[in-house]
Amino acid sequence: MSETGKEAAAAMQKGRVYDIQRFSVHDGPGVRTEIFLSGCPLECLWCHSPESQSFNPQLAWYEIRCIGTAACGVCLAACPQKAISPGPTKVSPADNVEIQLIEINRKLCDNCGECTRACPSGALEMTNREMTLEEVMEIIERDRRYYSRSGGGITISGGEPMVQYEFTLALLKECKKRGLHTCLDTTGYSMWSYYENILPYVDLFLYDLKHMDSDSSVKLTGVPNELILENARKLARAGAALQVRVPIIPGFNDDEENLRETGMFCRELGSAVVLVQILPYHGLGAAKYERLGRKYELTAIEAPSEERMEKIKSFLETFGLQVKIH
Ligand code: SF4
Ligand code: SF4
Repeated sequence: MSETGKEAAAAMQKGRVYDIQRFSVHDGPGVRTEIFLSGCPLECLWCHSPESQSFNPQLAWYEIRCIGTAACGVCLAACPQKAISPGPTKVSPADNVEIQLIEINRKLCDNCGECTRACPSGALEMTNREMTLEEVMEIIERDRRYYSRSGGGITISGGEPMVQYEFTLALLKECKKRGLHTCLDTTGYSMWSYYENILPYVDLFLYDLKHMDSDSSVKLTGVPNELILENARKLARAGAALQVRVPIIPGFNDDEENLRETGMFCRELGSAVVLVQILPYHGLGAAKYERLGRKYELTAIEAPSEERMEKIKSFLETFGLQVKIH
């Protein structure tokens, strides 16, 4: 294939994207466009993006947008699986009128998406969509001037972007070709050969460390941590820049032993660790579980106080690390 032919084929490469956020300032330096790719091998108990976990699109229902079966109800007839039926009632806060909502039988639903096309109010949506590289790049290019002014760029996040390794690699390559700063937000849970191949195209890895004990890691995230730690070591040796991110989940990973192990591990990685970011738990993702017909397990957990976060920051700083909250 000619060079032009190869470029055209790359531009048509497709990925599954569940969100694109412009003007993001939390995931990497400066102003960034953040591309969220679907699919994740982990299932963290506190995950605030459950819609990101499945690579395949899933049906989400936004109760607040549903106008009810009396005024609408078109989804009941649209569903080939007969998975939607009249559900509970609620009083609409707008006009104090009682409306009957719908109920989705998730065992019958095969996520075909027919109902989302019928719904007039956007109450039914699929969790992700297929986009070409060209389409994603067109959105990225809209904010180029803000990247250069702020020292920003693009961040690929998920889910776990390595689930869509080919697309992630193509996107990173294209961004570097166009002179954009790149961050990859990763769980570290993927094949080393993938990390090795993308390394030349990533300026900064946002690298999650969730628990230093492998058994606890399995309980909290569904996967052991050996591969995650090994990939971090290999990336550090290979010259990558790592911004380590530690979610602080009270009662799960904020005990002194785990924090000490985390500090020691980051110190072991040496100058590769440019920053340790500690992220306080929040339960803001709970409503998203309901939209997907799932149960959120961590309802009893409260966010750590500012004082507690400051203490953890000071503790990790004793390992010679630069630490930031949020
Ligand atoms: S996604 Fe398909 S199967 Fe599921 S409720 Fe909608 S129409 Fe029915
Ligand atoms: S089609 Fe949409 S707005 Fe109408 S009843 Fe179904 S979910 Fe509600």
